[in-house]
Amino acid sequence: MSLAQQLADAFVRDFWAADREIVWTKAEEERSLWLDDQTLIVGKIDALGVNGAGEPFFGEWKTLSKAKARNMGFVKHTWKMTPQALTYAVLVPEVKKFTVRWAIKTDPITTDFEWFDIATVDIDHWKRQLLMISAKVRTMRKFSEPWQTNYKSCYAWGPNYPCPFQEACWAHRYAEVPPGMQPRTESHLNIENSLRSSLKSDTVILDATRVGTWFECEEKYRKLWEGEGLREESIALEIGKEFHEQIDKHIKSLITHDRSSTQETPTLLDKEQKGNTSASSSRKTQTIEQVMAKEKSQTLVQIC
Ligand code: SF4
Repeated sequence: MSLAQQLADAFVRDFWAADREIVWTKAEEERSLWLDDQTLIVGKIDALGVNGAGEPFFGEWKTLSKAKARNMGFVKHTWKMTPQALTYAVLVPEVKKFTVRWAIKTDPITTDFEWFDIATVDIDHWKRQLLMISAKVRTMRKFSEPWQTNYKSCYAWGPNYPCPFQEACWAHRYAEVPPGMQPRTESHLNIENSLRSSLKSDTVILDATRVGTWFECEEKYRKLWEGEGLREESIALEIGKEFHEQIDKHIKSLITHDRSSTQETPTLLDKEQKGNTSASSSRKTQTIEQVMAKEKSQTLVQIC
């Protein structure tokens, strides 16, 4: 069995009980948002749902190395303010909560999770940051290569994992394409592919990965994302892709099950289960929009 499959199996097994308290509404949802007329934010949200407390949230699924998982307290402490989390928060402004679930490459595979709250002030701050990145990208486009190099990042992942451009960069061959890197012919996001032909040349497209790369090294951002860009291939990326495909199928099956179970005539077993979990069952009939409409009306009542 592949490592990705083992990670996915552990995810499904370990979150089985938690998932019974969640109403899943969307999986792998593509979104786009114009921050101004030159800045387009895109992304694919791993999942959207409503938790057991009736709060809408988005979910983010990650695989994690055993070495990084040695300090899960630190991983969780820092996750909320990662460019990835904040960029997704900008794309999903209607929710103020998210969860991250990690499948960890230990032997045997283990899992972990955390819930985070997002404040409007965090989202507003990050929008400004994204607009600043966009403005700087447009400025940097006036320069030839290299853009700003960050030599502190060349070995950021340890001595055995240099940046793929390390050899060329350190010899000042900034236009060189390292072996194994391919032109990025199209995005993994359908939404971006469909918009691309209609975009003006001063448009800057940003997503969670691009923003992460920007903070790592602006020259690396240029190489990977400007013009056609380059696609980085690695075993870790392949495992992550297969893992996400498996979890996507799993969440979609939960959505289908929830929808069909609200339409089917309940069986005896269903009735017994519903008797034991009446609060949870009534939540299952609510869509994310209904929950938000309810929250809005409650707020209006409080204001009145
Ligand atoms: S692209 Fe940036 S991080 Fe990569 S080798 Fe060059 S300077 Fe270092």
